Amino acid sequence: MGAARRDEALKRSDSKRRETPIAQARTWSGEIPIHSFYTAGVAGQIFFTALKERGVLLGSRCRACEQVYFPMRQFCERCFAELSEQIEVGPQGTLTSFTFCHIDRDGKRLDPPLVLALAQLERATTVCLHYLIGITEPSQVEIGSRVELVIKPKAKRAGSILDIEGFRLP
Ligand SMILES: [Zn+2]
Repeated sequence: MGAARRDEALKRSDSKRRETPIAQARTWSGEIPIHSFYTAGVAGQIFFTALKERGVLLGSRCRACEQVYFPMRQFCERCFAELSEQIEVGPQGTLTSFTFCHIDRDGKRLDPPLVLALAQLERATTVCLHYLIGITEPSQVEIGSRVELVIKPKAKRAGSILDIEGFRLP
């Protein structure tokens, strides 16, 4: 199709387009019952099983670009290589950022505040987000602090990211 004919066809379809203002769109109230199962994926399954059963922190090492992901991934986000090499990381690491949350998602005040941390675990090249526990004031912590991931006792682990209590200062 030539450019002139294509432009003419587009103009014709444009003139026939009907649009309904959003306020006039027909709606029906009600609920749709949807039941679904969430899977953690291939890498996530290995990661959570190792965390629950053995209390270890597994990352994935990319043989092509040397990136070490924590938690595990199936594919490298940098070079798209499949990641088949597992590596134990942490539990010690270095704090790269932290924040104090004084208000929750519903706008309710949190007292004490929720403290979140980003840290790079030993042998990993990526950072991990989790709670920062035992800290109540920003002056108690600084970027570059040594931190350690605390894993719950085996009897309390369920195969969830919450099997990890959070980071603490050693
Ligand atoms: Zn890679």
